[in-house]
Amino acid sequence: MSNNLVTVAYIAASVLFILSLSGLSHQDTAKRGNWLGMLGMAIAFLATALLCQGYPIQASAIGLGLFVGVVAAARVAMTAMPEMVAFLNSFVGLAAVLVGFAEYLQPSTALGGMDATLHRIEIYAGVFIGMVTFTGSMVAVGKLQAILPSRSVLLPARHILTIAMLVAMVAFAFPFLSATGSEGLVPLGVLTTLAGIFGIVIVMAIGGADMAVVISLLNSYSGLASAAAGFMLNNDLLIITGALVGSSGAILSYIMCKGMNRSFINVLLGGFGEGASNPGQRAGSAEQATATNASEVVDLLEAAQSVVIVPGYGMAVAQAQHAVAEITQILRTQGKQVRFGIHPVAGRMPGHMNVLLAEANVPYDIVLEMDEINDDFPKTDVVLVIGANDTVNPIAQEDPTSPIAGMPVMEVWRAETVVVVKRSLSPGYAGVDNPLFYRDNTLMFFGDAKANINGVLAQLSDQVGRPVATAALSAA
Ligand code: NDP
Repeated sequence: MSNNLVTVAYIAASVLFILSLSGLSHQDTAKRGNWLGMLGMAIAFLATALLCQGYPIQASAIGLGLFVGVVAAARVAMTAMPEMVAFLNSFVGLAAVLVGFAEYLQPSTALGGMDATLHRIEIYAGVFIGMVTFTGSMVAVGKLQAILPSRSVLLPARHILTIAMLVAMVAFAFPFLSATGSEGLVPLGVLTTLAGIFGIVIVMAIGGADMAVVISLLNSYSGLASAAAGFMLNNDLLIITGALVGSSGAILSYIMCKGMNRSFINVLLGGFGEGASNPGQRAGSAEQATATNASEVVDLLEAAQSVVIVPGYGMAVAQAQHAVAEITQILRTQGKQVRFGIHPVAGRMPGHMNVLLAEANVPYDIVLEMDEINDDFPKTDVVLVIGANDTVNPIAQEDPTSPIAGMPVMEVWRAETVVVVKRSLSPGYAGVDNPLFYRDNTLMFFGDAKANINGVLAQLSDQVGRPVATAALSAA
């Protein structure tokens, strides 16, 4: 493939990536955005593959990658998607580290003088970012899968340790820049080790509700790692793509920080979620919580004029979104006002709830953000909290010593009646007990969200003489 054709292909791919991002910024254009992104990636991939030599090696690498990617994507449950994204982020980081070593040992272009020094700096920076992304993302996977504690884990003298590591990494850059032959492998190896430990230490220190920000931050780092690989390989498209991922991830992290009332620095310094209350220690006794059942919930919904549904991670686990969408449709047909309230960090990945609701064909115009709906709770008859916990926890406003103090939450308790659908009184991701469950106007509808919501749907459908739609049935 001629270089001119490759340039044209790269420009086309870059434009498609930008259009894709613009599409992804609105729910109703998100699908189109995805398709444009995939098309851009296909063009970029083909152009790069045709540009390179060594087709047999490429073909085997592509074949293996395709196989692993397709199998992993087909098998992954929607609830495990955040772990998968974090896992894939870690691969981007690892790839940047490997490219760095390969470029050091066998530079793709012969450079001299200042250019050679700049190239070494690119390698050093690329390996640093790549390794931090790799180990940080692996720790994030461990925290999301509950293999590692989700709370913040702080090493003694952590700040001194991290500053010492940063100083050492900068100091080792000098012997690397002046090294000849394979001598530079020693400082590069030291950098790789220290950056790896650095990634582990900073992500271990972040806990509880802050993990949401870390996931998008690591996504942003993976963009920076790709951009660094682009500089090392002198590949413009990789630089552009990396910059787009890096900057959009950073913007998303900023938006999530704002949504959580936290500053970037606070999140990065960690400690949030530290000392999270003991799961055994409750804000009330089991007797203080009022249990309810499907028929009572149906009666409440039938009597209500305005209903707000607040979904959380439990709805994703239970895959209850189709039944929830069915109930919404029935209530709306009866002339009731039904809306959804989405907390910025509900679920386990940015936009998690929006994806599920879009999949169940819930109209976008009734899906509102926290700030848009919080003031409406006092005028709401019934709030259905489905598998949400941290994001509806009043303790964030009431107890300044709580690990989630200051985090904005959905003020569901201000509604006339709150029905919480979950299996037990256990705390959510941040490990903080929730006094909402023991309030006078709260009814606990214990059980799996799908089973419970299907129970409500069956009774409601019976009452209005309407068959349950296939989507909800097949999801049952
Ligand atoms: P939470 O994690 O606070 O709570 C989810 C609740 O769902 C649990 O308390 C659990 O209670 C319940 N649940 C689990 N399975 C089921 C089921 N099958 N049926 C019914 N209920 C179920 O969820 P939220 O969405 O309120 O908050 C998200 C949390 O995750 C925040 O702390 C956020 O910071 C964090 N986070 C968010 C990320 C993001 O990007 N959005 C990324 C990483 C972390 P029980 O066991 O009693 O059923």
